[in-house]
Amino acid sequence: MVKNWTVEDSANLYNLRGWSLRYFDINAEGHLTVHPRRSPELTIDVKGVVDAAIARGIRLPVLFRFQDILRHRVALLNETFRKAIADHKYQGRYFGVYPIKVNQLCEVVEEILDAGQPYQYGLEAGSKGELLAVLAMNSAQSLTILNGYKDETMMRLALMGVKLGKKIIVVIERSSEVKLLLKVAREMGVRPLIGLRCKLQTQGTGRWKYSTGHVSKFGLNTPELLGAVATLAEAGMRDCVKLLHFHIGSQVSDIQSIKDAAKEGARVYAKLRRKKLDLEYLDCGGGLGVDYDGTHTAVDSSTNYTPREYVNGIVYTIQEVCKQEGVPEPHIVTESGRSVVAHHSFMVVDAVGIIESGATPVDLPAAEKESEVVREMRDTLQEINPKNLAESYHDALQRREEAFSMFKLGYLELEEKAKVENLFWRICQEIDKLLPKAKFISEDLLEMGKTVRAQYLCNFSVFQSLPDAWAIGQLFPIMPLHRLDEEPTQRAALVDITCDSDGKIVQFACHRKTGGALPLHPLRDGEPYYVGFFLMGAYQATMGDIHNLFGRVNEVHVFEDAGEPGGYYLEEVVHGQTVRDMLTSVQYHDEELIKLMKDQIDAQVKAGAIKPREGVELLDAYEAVMGHYTYIDRNAMRVPDEIPAAKPA
Ligand SMILES: *Cc1c(COP(=O)(O)O)cnc(C)c1O
Repeated sequence: MVKNWTVEDSANLYNLRGWSLRYFDINAEGHLTVHPRRSPELTIDVKGVVDAAIARGIRLPVLFRFQDILRHRVALLNETFRKAIADHKYQGRYFGVYPIKVNQLCEVVEEILDAGQPYQYGLEAGSKGELLAVLAMNSAQSLTILNGYKDETMMRLALMGVKLGKKIIVVIERSSEVKLLLKVAREMGVRPLIGLRCKLQTQGTGRWKYSTGHVSKFGLNTPELLGAVATLAEAGMRDCVKLLHFHIGSQVSDIQSIKDAAKEGARVYAKLRRKKLDLEYLDCGGGLGVDYDGTHTAVDSSTNYTPREYVNGIVYTIQEVCKQEGVPEPHIVTESGRSVVAHHSFMVVDAVGIIESGATPVDLPAAEKESEVVREMRDTLQEINPKNLAESYHDALQRREEAFSMFKLGYLELEEKAKVENLFWRICQEIDKLLPKAKFISEDLLEMGKTVRAQYLCNFSVFQSLPDAWAIGQLFPIMPLHRLDEEPTQRAALVDITCDSDGKIVQFACHRKTGGALPLHPLRDGEPYYVGFFLMGAYQATMGDIHNLFGRVNEVHVFEDAGEPGGYYLEEVVHGQTVRDMLTSVQYHDEELIKLMKDQIDAQVKAGAIKPREGVELLDAYEAVMGHYTYIDRNAMRVPDEIPAAKPA
């Protein structure tokens, strides 16, 4: 351990100040802390929360939700718009909606509605299921926006909402939806509230940049837009068109695209307005990004702007265009999902072991009569420094090839081959360790680094809990929750407990400071090591899958409360899925499986191979596992000190 390592060094290493938006910090004990309302007076020790949950019998992995963070995000977005509107003396108001696809969990939506109530903050739905949920949950004061492809049933449901006095706006995505909506409206005798989604030419930046432009699957191009207006006018429903919508994709990384889109969208609004279309709302969609890696740059996992810049950019741009065109300033709608929910939840997993690829169980000392190639490898190892990393690696690769050829031809003994393999591994490790000090890191060194890192085996499934890390290489901040006053000396990658070699995380949000690896502490015997995955609130929960039949994880909802010990209480526990749940989801039924097992046990009993009493015990043991959590039990993994003596027959 290097002396004088401080918690501040840890904060720098994991770029905590970059991504945490002051919701997280580190205390003097070296534990991560959370400040749900960003007020420094109230600090909650995250390790304490985890220990408290475990003491209540809740197994890891656990997803923790801080409802106070969620409320804070909702208030912040709305207050930021209010302030920008006041500062610019903007004439319209802000009516935000939360798109529930980003996190549909009922508790999340309820909390958002409650926190958003003073702002008339509404909801957005994009499918039949989501529509049923928002129709029942949203109040009549706030907007309800229906996007996505719609069939007649969805339109009927939406108009049912209008009958109930709700402000539900049906956004037309395709020309054919116009006539369908008109038919349903006539049949139900309802005057609908209509939105039109236009395809912008402005493209977003980042991974979802093809959500707009002529190749996008959503929205009306200009001829279609004019056609829709004409059809509605003919049907006498011109005055029902209330909203113009656009959406340039999620996680827009560059503020310039946001402003360009607002400019183009506002221009379309203004031109329609001048055609005597009484549009009241301009809906700028989602796209407000989250700075996952904390670098404040326009790369995919970051944003080069803050939410305040985003809000000011939109308000100012729309105002400018409206001034030029001489049209009233519309109410502004945005459909921010990611930025509202990402921060409020994090998952805690325990590291249950380390897989070290090149460690050698035998001593391989230098010998006098050693092959030249071994000695050269030894020299290469000795001479590595931050300036010759690539050269050393290429030398080592070449020597290793030479050694393998010699071995095949019979010129090298097994011991020497072992030395070459071991030296090669040590060279790679040494290079990897020096990567953070290198001026430039080539792609092959980064790739090499991934192969020599200690793989920390963690109790979770990437496919269930971090689907975007696997599917699209999304980066999430990951760091230990404790021992942050101690230097993390291991350069690690994380592997999950699925039987899939894709079940791992090798790219980290802190990569720029660490030369690609995740710095972690060596595990200590008998002591748990908790690793947190942060900014997990957006999109991950319902996109996860059941690969290997690992199910939904346990969830704990934490509330801030200055009156309680530790400043919080654990309100609600949503138990994760059991082995039985997962088997049922793929059509195995526990009674049938148990019956099949019982028949086989009975046969063995009949044959005299096992005693009847033992048969009962075996069946009970089988049945009991049905009710277990799908993840592994850390306590049941402890390696015994001694193997017990064989039982007498
Ligand atoms: C997904 C989606 C959103 C949410 O976008 P975020 O980037 O998560 O804020 C908003 N509007 C529409 C139409 C969407 O499809």
